[in-house]
Amino acid sequence: MTRYRGYLIDLDGTLFKGEEVISSGLRFIDELEKRGLAYLYFTNNSFRKPEQVAEKLQGFGYPATPDQVVTSAQATAVYLQNRLGAPSVYPVGGKGLKDALTEVGCRFTEHHPDAVVVGIDPSFTYDKMKTACLAIRAGAKFFATNGDLMLPSDEGLLPGNGSLCAGITAATGVQPTFIGKPEQPIVDYALSRLQTSVQETLIVGDNLLTDIQAGVNSGMDTLLVFGGVTTEEEYRKSSIQATYSVYDLMEWNFI
Ligand SMILES: [Mg+2]
Repeated sequence: MTRYRGYLIDLDGTLFKGEEVISSGLRFIDELEKRGLAYLYFTNNSFRKPEQVAEKLQGFGYPATPDQVVTSAQATAVYLQNRLGAPSVYPVGGKGLKDALTEVGCRFTEHHPDAVVVGIDPSFTYDKMKTACLAIRAGAKFFATNGDLMLPSDEGLLPGNGSLCAGITAATGVQPTFIGKPEQPIVDYALSRLQTSVQETLIVGDNLLTDIQAGVNSGMDTLLVFGGVTTEEEYRKSSIQATYSVYDLMEWNFI
């Protein structure tokens, strides 16, 4: 088995499930630490700030620091900075997104923004949708932190950011540029933080359509762990295939 120097590790469904820690995730991270391997916590969630994500992980017993967290909000902000300078933005989303955009120098406006950026927003309203749609119709570029249509929760599957964006697309005819998993920009951003190459880095996750597809899209090897979003039955029928699959992270052989 190849020795990977860097690991990009999904959170929900991989290291914890809802409010419950996945104990083999703790042992997996412990092994990475012992072996001195580079790794980052790799999430499509744009709502929380890296500090909040790290805090949540610490609550489960993970040795997480904010600088080990890669969010789709950070990847989106850096993408905007690289492609558009620091544009004026109408943001829809949580503090994680707004802080990331502010950090790269974006200023916020409802009036003729250069870009509309949409991340998951539990306070999404008709008014926000209207402002976003009018801005896009007036020429603002449309970006989405991620395209997840559904968000697993204890209540069942909730509408994800992709579903909010689908409404804006329906009203404008404009598709957003998606940044998060499975798209390339978040992988490029994560690798730049991890300082490892495509060949020596492994993406680990429970979701075939985001984590594993991200690897397929970017030419990286992947490790699918069952027990989260993707079931073994779905995986067997799918045309998307991971490099490795395990029932439990403890099956992973680091050597
Ligand atoms: Mg997951």
